[in-house]
Amino acid sequence: MERRVRIAAIVLVVAWFLLPGLRGYIPPWIVFVVFAALELQFLAVGWRDRGAPSSPRGRAPQAVDVEELGGAGWRRPVLAHIDGFEVWLPRGEPAPPRERPAAGRRRLRRVEGLVALAALAVALLVLVPDRGWSSLDEAEQSRTGARLSAEAGRIAGHTARVHCDAEGKAVGVVQHADGLAEVGGRDAFLTPEICFRLHRLAFDGDEGSFGQTARAIAVLAHEAWHLRGERDEGVVNCYAFQSGVELGRRLGLSEATAARMMRQQLAENATFARSAPAYLVPGACHDGGSLDLDPKSSRFP
Ligand SMILES: [Zn+2]
Repeated sequence: MERRVRIAAIVLVVAWFLLPGLRGYIPPWIVFVVFAALELQFLAVGWRDRGAPSSPRGRAPQAVDVEELGGAGWRRPVLAHIDGFEVWLPRGEPAPPRERPAAGRRRLRRVEGLVALAALAVALLVLVPDRGWSSLDEAEQSRTGARLSAEAGRIAGHTARVHCDAEGKAVGVVQHADGLAEVGGRDAFLTPEICFRLHRLAFDGDEGSFGQTARAIAVLAHEAWHLRGERDEGVVNCYAFQSGVELGRRLGLSEATAARMMRQQLAENATFARSAPAYLVPGACHDGGSLDLDPKSSRFP
């Protein structure tokens, strides 16, 4: 059971790294705290058991070995004398169950725990900080800001300035936690995470994870629609998902991928909007509806 929980935790952490889509839903500190707590518990158990006596039966098969050989069906061999030879025969009493794992196995568990903790520390200290907005030098940051400002300006219909230093908590609302913009103004603010994802797409050709990239594009388009003068959050979302197709294509995606991303954003809108109903797209947000920006096309968004 312990082992299964632990394997599940490791799978979760690995998946969290390899499937960045998960990162949008599970904050990193939860993953790391769960994993670290689990590993510490294993270390503590291993440490506590370190003084326990090893098997009094010497090299007799251990309960764990019996389990690996098929559990209760395995029987302790008996020594028989046949024609003057000593022969082990596969019959006799079932091996008695043992409470504690063998000493070697306990040591292995402690080593496993230490290795896992070391990997975790490397991930936290080396990998994570190097892969964010702050890892970009000033020139790259301002180049990205200029590019995103230009893209926002195309949607807004006037000059826009995109700043990459918004604090999620300053914005507050769930679906809006990654950006902020003045309605009809020139200034929009995105979180460094959103800017970094768009930077990777636009300048490094890295499409990243489907969900994260889709969200980053939708957030930029959303704020741009506020700059254009639209105040209603649901309407802004409906327009943003549609503008996001062209925006994504301009930032380097194929049109088909960009369209699929925006359809995913539209599909997830109802879930997000449960905690923030103002962000729910209106009923007219469908192909041919009054909010369809391109009624001639049969694709939506
Ligand atoms: Zn908004």
